[in-house]
Amino acid sequence: MKAVGIFGGTFDPVHIGHLRTAVELREHLGLDELRLMPSARPPHREQPGVSAEHRLAMLRLAIASELPFDGLLADDRELRREGLSYTVETLAQLRGEQGDDVALCLCIGMDSLVNLHTWQRWQELSDYAHIVVAARPGWHLPETGPVAEWLAGRCTNDPQLLSQSLSGCVLVESMTLLPVSATQIREDLAAGSSVRYLVPDAVIQYIHQHGLYKQESS
Ligand code: ATP
Repeated sequence: MKAVGIFGGTFDPVHIGHLRTAVELREHLGLDELRLMPSARPPHREQPGVSAEHRLAMLRLAIASELPFDGLLADDRELRREGLSYTVETLAQLRGEQGDDVALCLCIGMDSLVNLHTWQRWQELSDYAHIVVAARPGWHLPETGPVAEWLAGRCTNDPQLLSQSLSGCVLVESMTLLPVSATQIREDLAAGSSVRYLVPDAVIQYIHQHGLYKQESS
């Protein structure tokens, strides 16, 4: 069965941590494509200082310049929707488009999994997709509370299972996440420091061209 991954975030800006994780997830999970999906208006955090259009443009440049092969793509559907960017709506829309012969895999971080019960209609997420949790080595799953109860019976450690059913499994992928954060990159840019090798060159060029992340606009 075809398998499509979804990797959401603010990407404010996209950096090598996101890109490396995307590449590893696509390979390890055997995904046919992995869609990096900028959140227009993230419900659970401060709204990004840089517009969704700029964040999408940077993501497109990053994918085009650093990863010139099929399989990673930028998906702008949350920018085309009004209101807050609820993941459950995104998954429902994707499921409607892809039909019932494509496995969907929503890729999130362990920090997101722990807070999953605060997401809109969170229990429906696994009706539409599998959930893949990218976790640093030494990770542990929540042991008590609503998410722990919800996880019971859903966890698998076999990536192959993900392409054998449409949705419903939770898989934790242990991976070394590069110690890079968009917050630090924004601070460096505001301070006029170099972010070379943390962010693709084409994205750095775009940032300078458009005067993004200068102190006054951050
Ligand atoms: P900020 O510092 O603004 O919170 P961020 O990079 O942590 O930025 P997002 O852009 O929203 O946050 O991240 C998108 C996704 O990438 C999230 O699922 C997040 O867990 C993951 N992510 C963030 N940093 C890294 C990293 N260094 N390596 C791998 N994945 C990361």
